[in-house]
Amino acid sequence: MQESKFPHIRARADVARHRVRGRLAGRARLAVPATVLAVGAGLAGISAAVAGGPTEAPVTAAVAADQQARTEAAQRADRAERAATQTTPATPAQPAPTTAAPKAAPTTPAAPKTTTAAPKKVTPAWVSPMPGAATTSCFGQRWGVLHAGVDLAADAGTPIHAVGAGTVVAAGWAYSGYGISVVIDHGNGYLTHYAHQSRVAVKVGQKVAVGQVIGYEGSTGDSTGPHLHFEVHQGALWNQINPAPWLKARGIAVSC
Ligand SMILES: [Zn+2]
Repeated sequence: MQESKFPHIRARADVARHRVRGRLAGRARLAVPATVLAVGAGLAGISAAVAGGPTEAPVTAAVAADQQARTEAAQRADRAERAATQTTPATPAQPAPTTAAPKAAPTTPAAPKTTTAAPKKVTPAWVSPMPGAATTSCFGQRWGVLHAGVDLAADAGTPIHAVGAGTVVAAGWAYSGYGISVVIDHGNGYLTHYAHQSRVAVKVGQKVAVGQVIGYEGSTGDSTGPHLHFEVHQGALWNQINPAPWLKARGIAVSC
């Protein structure tokens, strides 16, 4: 170039060039870390994207939030369902009063079926001698003498039943004034006597069951009309006691 002619200029220019170069170099030196940072940030972004890092983080957060919401909703639904099941026992409890057993009450729908099947005929140990008959006279003093029994009236010829199981110890015209009667020994310290019958249906020594027909209502003996004179003898024959409480104690209603 023109080095020989203007060595000082060359020198200045050289210096200037050096200065520029130095300035550029300085800028470059500054620019390098910036580029590295920029590139690094870009790389970091790419690597993060590839690795599913920062770009996916908000997605996972959103998923997590969604999951949380769903879980809470499920819990709320579960609570609602539990609340609903807590109220349901109240409705099947309504037919419960018909059932006697408390264990059958809660939820079983089979409980009403057992109650409908329950009315099973069970033969009682003691029955009325003439069911449905009217009580016309009670045990006690009557016209100066002891009326030693209870009078029950129904239509003439109405069947008379053994009040309990036992053995027939008298049947027919056995005792004066009583007309055609039957005496049954129940084997428990008590005897029952059925008087004024039209006819008997059993014989002495015969075993009878509770409720068995032993004869029919009439007006034989000292009687003014068709009725059954019923007596209870305690311990021995002719030790008459009041039949009313005796029958009531065995579940048989008498209007005395
Ligand atoms: Zn009588």
